[in-house]
Amino acid sequence: MSDKLDILIVGAGPGGMAAGILAKQAGLSYAIIEKGGNPMQGIIDTYPKGKKVYPTIPKSYTEPFPVDEVRPPDSRVPVEAYIDQARAVEAEHDLNIHYHQVFTSIEGTYPDYLIKTERGTFLARNILLAFGSNIPNDLGIYGEAKTVARNIENGEDYIGINVLVIGGGNAAADVVASLSKIKREADDDTFVYWAHIKEKFEINKDTARDLGEEVLLGGHIKILQRAVPKIGEVDADGIDRLYIHQTSGASMGDDLYLYQGMSFPMKNVIACIGHHGPSAIFDALNLQQITCTGAICKIAKEGERLLMLSTHLETSHKGIFAIGGAISPSYMEIGADGIIKEKRHSNLIYTAVIDAKAVIDFLTT
Ligand SMILES: Cc1cc2nc3c(=O)[nH]c(=O)nc-3n(C[C@H](O)[C@H](O)[C@H](O)COP(=O)(O)OP(=O)(O)OC[C@H]3O[C@@H](n4cnc5c(N)ncnc54)[C@H](O)[C@@H]3O)c2cc1C
Repeated sequence: MSDKLDILIVGAGPGGMAAGILAKQAGLSYAIIEKGGNPMQGIIDTYPKGKKVYPTIPKSYTEPFPVDEVRPPDSRVPVEAYIDQARAVEAEHDLNIHYHQVFTSIEGTYPDYLIKTERGTFLARNILLAFGSNIPNDLGIYGEAKTVARNIENGEDYIGINVLVIGGGNAAADVVASLSKIKREADDDTFVYWAHIKEKFEINKDTARDLGEEVLLGGHIKILQRAVPKIGEVDADGIDRLYIHQTSGASMGDDLYLYQGMSFPMKNVIACIGHHGPSAIFDALNLQQITCTGAICKIAKEGERLLMLSTHLETSHKGIFAIGGAISPSYMEIGADGIIKEKRHSNLIYTAVIDAKAVIDFLTT
């Protein structure tokens, strides 16, 4: 066990790295523990190869990007270049990152927390939970656990294959644009089918620009709006397949409707249908969460549990803070007036870094 740290940071993503840089600059003793072997491991694990990284700032924020070192360049570089940037920043700042340390539990109380990993223990006054949120939502259909891919490790594997991407947000749009580009550049005639359960896709300006560019360059994209993933089925050859149909089929009278449907081998389906927060981990740590019931929540769904945080992102346990993807897309904020309400929190690099700054500022002022 090491000496007692001012702050132990869990996760070396944009939030954790920014916190490490700021803690060091402020003269705090700190360590970052990371379950993977690289800085930005969460991004390495989830972004499609070659995906451009945007320095998006949500409309409701006015502050500029607070830690330039982890800011994605305006030139919208591919993710590989962003990871190289993170490696260079780690070396330049000589960041104290302990790799292959999977955080498991916390014992003790403020200011004497004992943080356990699968390989050791750390003693710290404060803890920053910056472990992101990469627990993907399920489609809720038979067969998905075995066969639905959730991110693409190697886009080239989809050359020569009609692939179905499900989801209406930025992650799905990024995957669609990346796969289309790979197919186009390989002169491949197959398509990327992009299905969303709703009429409208919800993507931000930067993502839309890239996607538009890809379409104009002759991208191999077919859009399926109002497309509902229905059932997993096994075909005559024993292949697991996903069937989707487009709603608002024409009425044929007598309560009959005509629907258009398509069936894809499950192995060619990429579901990017969002993620849910690490509620079970917060439970295990005994951090207070509030259940959304009635009209309390506008962003989270009925029954979802949201972490309760102060205005400076402190949990119900003094000295334990949570930031970034771990608290997106919303959490319960206890305002200065004591009123608790749901607070929207975009899952972006910018917000994770803004959070990191808020916590380190709080600890040092
Ligand atoms: C496909 C995709 C595209 C995106 N594109 C953009 C974009 O262009 N621009 C943008 O601003 N945002 C984008 N985002 C969102 C952005 O990546 C996240 O908001 C950001 O990474 C959150 O940072 P974080 O530090 O909170 O968490 P993460 O980046 O998730 O980092 C958390 C770190 O904690 C580690 N960890 C997890 N559990 C443990 C544990 N038990 N013990 C130790 N370590 C642990 C993980 O390995 C990871 O390295 C995108 C997200 C996705 C999925």
